[in-house]
Amino acid sequence: MLPGLMRSAPGVEEPGHFDYYYWNKDMAFVCFLVFLTLLVKSRDASHNKLDSEVLPKVARMTVSGKKQTMGFDVPSTGENGVVVTATEAASKRPETPSKGSNGDEHITVPTPARSTGKARQAINIKAELEKRQGGKPLLNLVVIGHVDAGKSTLMGHLLYLLGNVNKRTMHKYEQESKKAGKASFAYAWVLDETGEERDRGVTMDVGMTKFETNSKVVTLMDAPGHKDFIPNMITGAAQADVAVLVVDASRGEFEAGFEAGGQTREHALLVRSLGVTQLAVAVNKMDQVNWQQARFQEIISKLGHFLKQAGFKESDVFYIPTSGLSGENLATRSSVSQLTSWYSGPSLLEQIDAFKAPQRSVDKPFRLCVSDVFKDQGSGFCVTGKIEAGYIQAGDKILAMPPNETCTVKGITLHDEALDWAAAGDHVSLTLTGMDIIKINVGCVFCDPKEPIRVCTRFRARVLIFNIEVPITQGFPVLLHYQTVSEPATIRKLISVLHKSSGEVLKKKPKCLSKGMNAIVEIQTQRPVSLELYKDYKELGRFMLRYVGSTIAAGVVTEVRDNVKTRNGLMFFPV
Ligand code: GDP
Repeated sequence: MLPGLMRSAPGVEEPGHFDYYYWNKDMAFVCFLVFLTLLVKSRDASHNKLDSEVLPKVARMTVSGKKQTMGFDVPSTGENGVVVTATEAASKRPETPSKGSNGDEHITVPTPARSTGKARQAINIKAELEKRQGGKPLLNLVVIGHVDAGKSTLMGHLLYLLGNVNKRTMHKYEQESKKAGKASFAYAWVLDETGEERDRGVTMDVGMTKFETNSKVVTLMDAPGHKDFIPNMITGAAQADVAVLVVDASRGEFEAGFEAGGQTREHALLVRSLGVTQLAVAVNKMDQVNWQQARFQEIISKLGHFLKQAGFKESDVFYIPTSGLSGENLATRSSVSQLTSWYSGPSLLEQIDAFKAPQRSVDKPFRLCVSDVFKDQGSGFCVTGKIEAGYIQAGDKILAMPPNETCTVKGITLHDEALDWAAAGDHVSLTLTGMDIIKINVGCVFCDPKEPIRVCTRFRARVLIFNIEVPITQGFPVLLHYQTVSEPATIRKLISVLHKSSGEVLKKKPKCLSKGMNAIVEIQTQRPVSLELYKDYKELGRFMLRYVGSTIAAGVVTEVRDNVKTRNGLMFFPV
C-alpha cells in the first residue's frame, strides 16, 4: 500500500502484502510523508476548490467525455431503522415488507441466477488462458512522470518502432506537427489519437493501446501528466500491474520534476500505493546531456534513495538511459557509442518483456469495476473495466452492485476483438442487455450473482495517516477513492491507534489522529459502496482518502459493518 505499509513479510512474496510488522518504523518515512503532503498540497492548490466543492455533493467523474454521477442513492433510514436506498425502496420493496428471522426488514430482489440465455459451455479457464495469445500473459502498464519528461514521445516512438503505427500515418503526424510548429511532438501525437477517441467516447480503449513483446501482451495505459493527474491516477493507474517512470535527464529539468512541485515523486508514490511493485525508470533525453554516464548515475542515486523509501525493492527497479526523440534504447539496444561505452543493459522493451506477470485471481468469483459506460449502436449498452477477479463468458448473467440487478453479457471485447470469454487482468468492453443504461455508472461493480460483492455504507479500515495540518477527528469529511470509485464519506469513529510496527493497540477511542499515525477507523459513506475485505481481494479492499485536494491517508478494509446482505435472494440493510 504505502511505503512501509506494503512491504512483504518474510517468505511472503505477494506484492502489496499488508503486514504491520513491516510498517515503517523509521522517522525518515514520516519525514517523507510530510514532504509528500507538502508536494501534493502545493501541486493541488488549484484543485482545492474543486474537491471541496465536490465533497458535500455527489462524486462526479467523466464518462465518455460527459459528466455523470455514480448510481448510488443516499440511504435513508426507514421504518424500524432499516436503511434502504430511495430507488431500491421504490422499485424493490414488496407491497408488504417481509421480516427476517432477526426482525430485519427485507427488500426482495430477483433471485440471482446463472446464465439462462445462450448455453454456457464449461471451460477450463486456466488452460484457455495458457492457449490465448500464444500463451503470452497480459501486462497492464502505466507510464508516469513529470509533465514534459517525454512520456508521450517515448511511448509513441516505441509504438512506431514496433510497427503499431504505419509509415504513412507517422508521415502525416510529422507533416501536421511541423505545420503546427511542433515538429518535435510528432511521436507524441501517436498517443494523442487515442485521446481523441476517448473524447468521442466511441471506443472501449480508454487511453489504452496494445503492443506485444516476446513474452507478453502489454496494455499501455496513458496517464495524463498534468495537474488533474492524482484523481485520474487513482482511478486509472489502479488498474496497472507495472509502471514506466519517465524522467528528463536534462540539467535542471530532472531536478524540477523531482523537487517540490514536481510530479516525479508524487506519481511514483501513488503507483506504489496502488499496488505497483515493478518499475522501469526511463532516464530520458539522454541526448541532451551528451549521453553522460555521470549524469545517469547522479539521477539513479537521487531517485534510488527516494524509491526505496517509497516502498520499491531495489531489485524491482530498473534504470534505462533513453532518448524518446532519437529512439535510443527503446525497442532495441542503442548503437550510439557514447552510450554503449558504459551501458550494455536492456532496452526499454526488453525490460518491459522481463517484468514478472502478476498472479491473477481467476479462481475467485467474478468482479469488474466499471470505468466507462456508453451506448452501443446495437441493442443494450457497453461498459468497460478491468476484470479484477474470476472470468466471464458470453451469455452469462452478471449482477451489478449497485443497483443490485442482473443483466446478460451479450458480447465481450478485448483489444477490439470479440471473444467468448475473458478473465482477471483483462481490460474488456462488455455489451449488456436486460438492464437500463441509466442504472449503471462509473464505480459500479459487476459480479457473480451467486457470490456478490459486499455493499455497505459503513466499514472499518486500517489507515496510515499522511501528513495533515488539521488532525482527523470524528466526523471528518473525506473523499473515498478506490478503483473507479470516488465517493464522499466521513470518518465516523476513531477506534484505535496502533503501534506502527507491531500493530498492537496503543490507544482506544483516540480523540484525534495526526500525521504518521496508524489507526483503525470506521468510515461512513454517503451512499452504499461495493467493496471487499483486503484479505479477500486486495484490489477491491484498498483505498485512498482525500480531503480538499490532498491525499491524506491510505488504508485497507478490515471489516464491513453494515453489509447489505443478500441471503436467499433477499437483500436488506441492517442498521
Ligand atoms: P510528456 O508531457 O511527458 O508526454 O512529454 P512529451 O512527450 O510531450 O515531450 C515534451 C517535449 O520534450 C517535446 O518537445 C518532445 O519533443 C521533447 N522530448 C521528448 N523526448 C525527448 C528526448 O529524448 N530528447 C529530446 N531532446 N527531447 C525530447
